[in-house]
Amino acid sequence: MVSGASGQGLVLQVGLQAELRTLPGLLNAMGMLAMTHQEVALATERSLAENPVLERMDGHPCPGCGRHVSSGTCHRCRGKGTAPQFQDRAEPGTDPFQTLEADAGLEVRSDCRHALEYVMAHLTPRGILDADPEEIARLHGLRDQQVQEALRALRAAGPPGIASSSVAELLAVQAEVLVAAGEVPAWLPRLVSEHLGDLAEGSTAAVVRAMGITEREVLAGLALIKERLRPFAAVETTAADAAVPTADVFLYRRPDGSLEVEVPASAWFGLHVVDLSEGLRGSPEAKQWLAEHELSAQRLMYQIDRRANALLRITECAVIHQKDFLDHGTSGHRPLTRTAVAQEIGLHPSTVSRAVSGKRLRLPSGAVADLSCLFGKGQAPRATLEELIAAAPGTMSDEKLRAELARHGFEIARRTVNKYRRSLRPDGQAESSTFH
Ligand SMILES: [Zn+2]
Repeated sequence: MVSGASGQGLVLQVGLQAELRTLPGLLNAMGMLAMTHQEVALATERSLAENPVLERMDGHPCPGCGRHVSSGTCHRCRGKGTAPQFQDRAEPGTDPFQTLEADAGLEVRSDCRHALEYVMAHLTPRGILDADPEEIARLHGLRDQQVQEALRALRAAGPPGIASSSVAELLAVQAEVLVAAGEVPAWLPRLVSEHLGDLAEGSTAAVVRAMGITEREVLAGLALIKERLRPFAAVETTAADAAVPTADVFLYRRPDGSLEVEVPASAWFGLHVVDLSEGLRGSPEAKQWLAEHELSAQRLMYQIDRRANALLRITECAVIHQKDFLDHGTSGHRPLTRTAVAQEIGLHPSTVSRAVSGKRLRLPSGAVADLSCLFGKGQAPRATLEELIAAAPGTMSDEKLRAELARHGFEIARRTVNKYRRSLRPDGQAESSTFH
């Protein structure tokens, strides 16, 4: 299965194979609504590579927002400078694990997606697990099987050795990939997993005895370890990713101050179906082939558009409710449930939950927040409480705060006041993110 002369090629191929195998089934099973923008972009790239009927128009991604444009910067970003402002996240593309999470998200069984997030959080910068799978399960209240499924997805989607439990294990996995490619002797993985310590101490003789290979072979093995294996799971990043922002939904302010919502649809990606029928007239097999590929291309565009439409309707509805919040910041936040929005626009509440979960909203300021910030309750009383505490630090009892909040129109139980207060940091700042 694996071929290629360089380690880089191997990394790419192993990941891609696994992704290609699992993608179509997943698309059918859960639709695109649960996917993040990055996952949709990834699925799009793969379809473009596989399907000659699906094409991207000439051009490139807009440097400000990632939208496909024929040249320069898109009309939305024009005149605003080309550098996108993502204030609460590393520049897209600089965090290779983000791509890995998207890739593994396509691979993982849907009932274990949440376990994937937890497992990812236990990866060190080298790509090694900082806790045992059992421990991860226990820490986050997951079942062992869910953690195992998340690990399987990570290992299928990521580079060889990702999510190993030690450097020795990571190197052994890399060695096994090279063995499968016929590039190194079959005993190399064992040399790595059992005798790294001996090699580090220079105890060549001990290795010769234990493994039944010659001293010359041991030294050759050591050279291979140094040359071909890396003590980290190198995650591939592509230049294309660097230009794509990590938002699912974009919010713009019109000149009159009102808000406009946009969600990337198939046109955003510059996708279109090309007509190949001219060259294929006559042969029934060719017609059949063409029909299948046209259908597949149209289905992808339909799914992207359907996801975009649902996200658009949900966000537009929520934005109307949260106008004060978006205009004036946290103190303007109104309680809003996903169920209320679902009822208002005629969708099932679980559809709204699935659509909102994990999605990111780019605000008119350029800052990116969780789309879920438009929902929930308690932000406004919480913000008021913050202001009260900040105005007179350490002087007000829970009861006094409760009375003050009531004066502001927020009827809240004293124990709730106490709960809010305890969730604030000692310096009076909220621990949850606020933005303006
Ligand atoms: Zn743009």
